[in-house]
Amino acid sequence: MEIHFCVGFRFKKSNPFIESSNQISCLFFKFFRTLVTINEIRAFADARNWEVFHTPKNLSMAIAGEAGELVAEFQWLTMDESMRKNLTDKQIQDIKLEIADVAIYLFRLTDVLGVDLADAMREKMKINESRF
Ligand SMILES: [Mg+2]
Repeated sequence: MEIHFCVGFRFKKSNPFIESSNQISCLFFKFFRTLVTINEIRAFADARNWEVFHTPKNLSMAIAGEAGELVAEFQWLTMDESMRKNLTDKQIQDIKLEIADVAIYLFRLTDVLGVDLADAMREKMKINESRF
């Protein structure tokens, strides 16, 4: 619990959209709960014999494609229109599903490559701390 909070606290300093430390904790608890679904994603792919399609090249391209779909949800909005308080329930639903698509392919890629995402994120944050 403390580790998640500490990681979140560092995140807050550079993120003006996070309003409270409690909100940060919730975000990170949800994130780590999401990581459990790697096994579910693998089972889904295995049940459909999709492992032949889930090469690192294809998965990285799928992430880019889904990221493009996520961007499209915001494409013509102003900065203000894109803020959470100004989005409709339908927009949030559509955005949520595109975020899920990106995450599913990202988690699948980490699974296929044997990358520990949490370790990789911590490693990258250390690099970022020395750069910024
Ligand atoms: Mg999509």
